[in-house]
Order: sequence, then structure tokens, then C-alpha cells
Amino acid sequence: MQVPKVVPQEEYILVVDDTLPNLHLLIMMLKRRGYHAHGVNNGEEALADIQQKIPDLVLLDINMPNMNGFQVCEQLKARDRTCDIPVIFISARDEVLDKIQAFAVGGVDYITKPFQVAEVLARIDNQLALRRLQKQLQSQNERLKQEINSRIIAETSLQEANEKLERLVHLDGLTELANRRCFDKYLEQEWQRLAREQLPLSLIMCDIDFFKNYNDTYGHVAGDDCLRKVSRVIKESVHRPADLAARYGGEEFVLVLPNTNIEGAIQVTESIRRGLLDLQICHECSAVSEFVTLSMGVTCLMPVVDSQPSVLLKAADYALYRAKELGRNQTYQIG
Ligand code: GH3
Ligand code: MG
Ligand code: MG
Repeated sequence: MQVPKVVPQEEYILVVDDTLPNLHLLIMMLKRRGYHAHGVNNGEEALADIQQKIPDLVLLDINMPNMNGFQVCEQLKARDRTCDIPVIFISARDEVLDKIQAFAVGGVDYITKPFQVAEVLARIDNQLALRRLQKQLQSQNERLKQEINSRIIAETSLQEANEKLERLVHLDGLTELANRRCFDKYLEQEWQRLAREQLPLSLIMCDIDFFKNYNDTYGHVAGDDCLRKVSRVIKESVHRPADLAARYGGEEFVLVLPNTNIEGAIQVTESIRRGLLDLQICHECSAVSEFVTLSMGVTCLMPVVDSQPSVLLKAADYALYRAKELGRNQTYQIG
């Protein structure tokens, strides 16, 4: 039968057969078909050859001296590099058990000798078409995996950028304390929560004493630096997760202390006062100390449902005003 010749294929086929006339016939017909083909006449040489150049398919005889086709196939299937190569057995053995074993060791097809050239080629074409599809699927799969990976990376950096933005929206740029907007929102939220839970809410307002003089004496850059140092002290004086320290504006700061009574709030003001004193930030134009000091107003209230937190804010503001009026560098409490 005349076998149709096809356009040359890229695929490379290794033929293993110890019967040389068979080997030559198979090679010749594969080449005529347009495949790259190479033949060896024993199992050891086949394995060595395959390590040098991975074929797209192996046509493998079973009965060979030293190493039979089953053993060659087993070795190929045992290695990662060669386990995917399709193996078609071609053998004079026509027992069912042989065929079963051929598939059991990893063969994809079985052709009995004497073979029909057209049948051999049809089976090879078929296996290679399957292999091409399989490779296509594998590379599509690989591409998809890479796409998913790069999407995950993009999403992660987007998420990080969003989180950063979110932080910036709530932070004061100079001091990195919460900003006024964040404070207003948080105070409202905690006021309502504590009203429901019937727990106290304390508020501390702090204002740097004679800070205008500080700026006038040391300049605005030093003034900014002083604001950062004072902010750090304020931040480090609160430890509970629900506590919030914010810059209220200019050289004024505010602390929200949920579920904290007035004694607790006074303790926090003491800690701020001591922390600031430890820093000994020189302030030669202050009328109350040689160092930078704070006046603080403290208040504590039990929030009432449907009322506004402005009552607490006004009380703390008034307490601060009293602390200033009474001579600065001190804490005044209401509540
Ligand atoms: P008092 O003891 O009564 O609080 O007096 P004071 O001088 O601290 O208060 P006043 O309200 O008269 O002045 C506040 C000054 O704080 C005005 C301004 O020079 C300074 N200030 C406000 N915001 C900033 C800032 O972001 N950076 C710097 N460097 N200074 C600021
Ligand atoms: Mg002020
Ligand atoms: Mg001031």
C-alpha cells in the first residue's frame, strides 16, 4: 500500500529493534513520512541515546538480548526527564499478557509483527498528535500559571499601595499621629459604642506652652522637630489598642481613652509630663520652665446614647484653658 508522504515534521522518533532489517525498514518509512528518525539495536544504547537527545516518541521492540523492551520502558518512566515520552511497543509477541504488561509499564500502544507500514504510521501519527496537544495544553497551563502569578503580584502591590494611602489619609504628615479627621471620626464612633456599653470615655487635650516664642527663638524647622518629639512622647504614653493619640491642630494634641476613668487619664497625663521632662528640650523664652512643657485638660464622661461627643470636647477644651490660666505646665481635670 502506498503511504501518503506528509510535510516534514519537527518530531524526532527513536526506533529500538535488535532485528536489523526491521530497524532499517522502520527508519526508512519514518524518514519518508517526513519524521526525523534514528535507530539503535539494543536497550542500553537506547537509554544512553535518549539521555543525549529526548525523542518525541520511542518505537520499542520487546524481545532484545540483555535488556528487553519492558525494562527499557520502566527505566524511562522512572525518570522525570523521560517519563512523558510516549512509547509504542512493536513486537512479535502476541500474547494478551504481553500486551497487558506493555501498558502496565507505561506503553501507550502496541503493534504486533509482522506489521503493516500504514498501520504503524497511523498509530505514530495519532500518538504524536496527542503529544502535540498535550504539550500545547502544558504550555497554556504554564502561561496561565504565570499570568495568575503576575496578577497576584500586581494585586499585592496594589493592596499595599491602598493600605499606605489609607494610612496617609488618617495620618498627620508632620507628626505621624492620627490627624484631625481621623480623631473626629474615632471620637464619634467610640462615643456611641461606649454609650451602648455604658463605659466611661476620657479625653486629654494638650497644648505646648509658649510655642510661638519657641518658633520665634529657634525657627520653624526646629519648631517642627519639637512637635515631632512631643508627639512621640504622647504616642508612647498610651498602650491600649483602643487608645488614640492625634494632632488636633498646630501645637495641640488630643488623646481618646475609651473605657478609662479619670484616674487612668490622669496617669496618662503624668506619663506624658515625665516623658517630656526627660527629653529636656530647651526653651529659653518660656515663662514657666527652661524646657518645653505642656498644659493639659482632662475630662471623663459616661457617654449617653444619641448625644454628641462635643460636650466632652468642650469640657476638655475648658479644662485646658483653666490649666493655661492657672499658670501653664500643669493638668486641670473636669469629671
Ligand atoms: P500658649 O502657652 O498660650 O499655648 O502660647 P503659644 O505660643 O503656645 O500659643 P499660640 O496659639 O499663641 O501659638 C501657637 C504657635 O504654634 C503658633 C505657631 O508659631 C506654632 N505652630 C503651630 N503649628 C505649627 C507647626 O506645624 N510647625 C511649627 N513649627 N509651629 C507651629
Ligand atoms: Mg494653641
Ligand atoms: Mg500653646
